[in-house]
Order: sequence, then structure tokens, then C-alpha cells
Amino acid sequence: MVVYLDCASTTPIDSRVLAEIQHQFSATGNSGSRTHAFGQEARRVVEASRDRVARATGVGRGEVLFTSGATESNNLAILGLAEHGRATGRRHIISTHIEHNSVLTPLQVLESQGFEVTRLGVSTGGWVCPQALGKTLRPDTLLVSVMHVNNETGVVQPVDAIAEMLQGHEAYFHVDSAQGFAREDGVKHARIDLISISGHKIHGPQGVGALIARRRSRQRPPLAPLLHGGGQELGLRPGTLPVALVAGFGLACELAAAERDARRSACAAFGAELERVLGRLGAQVHGERARLAGHIINVSFPGLSSEGVIEAVGEVVAISDGSACTSASTTCSHVLRAMGVENAGGAVRLSWSHMTPRVDWERFVQRLLPLVRRAG
Ligand code: PMP
Repeated sequence: MVVYLDCASTTPIDSRVLAEIQHQFSATGNSGSRTHAFGQEARRVVEASRDRVARATGVGRGEVLFTSGATESNNLAILGLAEHGRATGRRHIISTHIEHNSVLTPLQVLESQGFEVTRLGVSTGGWVCPQALGKTLRPDTLLVSVMHVNNETGVVQPVDAIAEMLQGHEAYFHVDSAQGFAREDGVKHARIDLISISGHKIHGPQGVGALIARRRSRQRPPLAPLLHGGGQELGLRPGTLPVALVAGFGLACELAAAERDARRSACAAFGAELERVLGRLGAQVHGERARLAGHIINVSFPGLSSEGVIEAVGEVVAISDGSACTSASTTCSHVLRAMGVENAGGAVRLSWSHMTPRVDWERFVQRLLPLVRRAG
């Protein structure tokens, strides 16, 4: 049996979440229909799910906007603030070189519309320095967008320290928490205004997520919608909500929060065993070990290409080169490049969860050791 070790790309669905989705899919009702019990029941399900997401993220229910996932949440957080930036003459944005493309590309769009983007580099360990970020803050800074956990390396970014740095400044702070939410500390800080989360990264369904838009002094971040045509989600995200997916997402959030400690220790035990195996093979880890989230590691084996490694272990584990989002391109990962990694062409990402079954590590080693020896 090939064991799936690509949980940073998507996680297996929790059976309880699947049961909830199946149950809800057999119901009929648009949560926007007010004139009959079918619509009212759909609305009840959606609002119960909103409560679950709000509790899991420690925010008020009115601060949860359902979206199709973190890509959309990132787009809404960034592009949605542009109108306010133009109106107030604040056209400066701060971000990093290691963000996900669903942050980097909207930033390029705003740049082409006259915004100025400062992109911070990272240490060789893969994290952005809060003090360096603080130095780039300006009176016209509209937005700071820094991810929570990097999807390629698993390095946890110091979002709490950045939030502290932003105290007293007007800039909105957006955190893409697709990989960190419900796993790592760090998005509870009240100075974080906007948080992107995704269902399928926490054993929920694909195609649903949320943008948390926290109120600051009772005021919602001044977002403008990207889509037009309906009043759903405070008019910020019009369109009929996928009730079954929303219900599954809410349950996935609740379970992830309630079972967080048990999940983290299962991930840590798996990671410790994996690190021993990687050590035997002389793997180089990309990313500062002490700052790694417990479910992702990015490594290379001197002299081996990522394709060679993936193929060699393909009958034992399913892994990816860098991130699945960029695996169609053969260019070097922008994240590893920003970290100054030299042998990025050999990098592979292994990512797991509490649901990951045991791996036959001896077989894994047998497949790789001859290649490593030949290359060495
Ligand atoms: N941000 C990060 C850090 C991610 O890892 C991902 C998923 N690869 C996304 C955003 C996009 O999430 P979704 O698939 O929910 O659109």
C-alpha cells in the first residue's frame, strides 16, 4: 500500500465530516430562501456552522465569511481592500517573497494598478524578521499580508510578533492561515484583522473555506466585494452557499479545535520517526527545524533530483516536489529561492496528519539508500 504523504496539498476527509456532508447533501434548501421550511432549515445549518467556525477561531459569528477556500479568501482580503486604499490615499502594501501564489498574484494585480508592494526576504531558515518588517511600515501602508505556516517548508512565521509590531499602526493585517489554522498557535492575536482558512487542509471538504474579518473598534475591515449580484455573506461574497460543504467545514473546524492536542502529538510522533529515517539517508532539511510546524518537512538528498526521489519511493509513499500548486512548472520554487537554497532542484516535500497510517520505513530506506550512495 502506498501511504499518502501529501497532506499539505490536501488532507483525507474525516469520516464524521463525510457523514455530515452526505446527510446534508440529501436535503433540499437554499439558505437564502426565507419563505418556507426548506430554506429556513438550510439557513439554520449554515448559521450553526458559522458558530462552529467562530468558536474554533475565537471570533464573533459576524466575523466569519464563507468562501470557496483560501485562494478566494486571500483574493478577497487583498483585492477587497483596494477601493479603501484608493479612497484614503494608502497605496503601500507589505508582504513577503514566500507567500502562496493566491497572495502573490493579487499583489501583482494591485501593483499594476498603481499600488506599491514591499516584499520582504526571509532568513536561510525560511522566516521573515518582524523587526525588518517594522522598518518598512509607512503612514500610507494599507495592508500587511504574511502567511502563518509556509506550505512548502512548514516554517511557522512569527505572526504574533508582527501583530505586536503593528500595534498603534492603522495598516490592516492579513494572515493566510491555510496551513496553520487549528494546528499551530498564532492567529488568536486581536491585532490580526483578516485570516484565510480552508476546509480541505483540516480534513474537511474541498471547495469551502472562510475569510475571518475581525472588527477593530467595532468596525469591520472596509472590504469591497469581488463578485456582484447577491446579498449573501453581508454582500461581500454573493452566491448561493453550498450548504453541505459549509456544514462539513464547520464540523471539521470544531473537531480540529477539540482534538488539536491529540492530533499534534500524533503528528509529532510521526515526524520524529521520519526525521530519524531522513537522518540515516543524509537528507538536508530546508527550513529551521525549531520553527517547523508539526506536519510538513522539505528536504533534498545531495546529488539526487526531486523526480528521481519521488519515483524511487513511489511504491512506498506519495510525496511532492515543493508544493502541488507549482508542480506543473519546472522552475525552481520561489520559496526555496528566497531562502537561498542551492540544491532546490532536488527538494521534496513530505507532509502528514494524525490520520496517516504507518509507513514501511525500511522499504523507503532500501529504495533510496543505493541512489544516495551512488550520488555520494
Ligand atoms: N494558501 C496556502 C498557504 C496554501 O497552502 C493553499 C493550498 N495549497 C492555499 C492558500 C489555497 O487554498 P485553497 O486550496 O483552499 O484555495
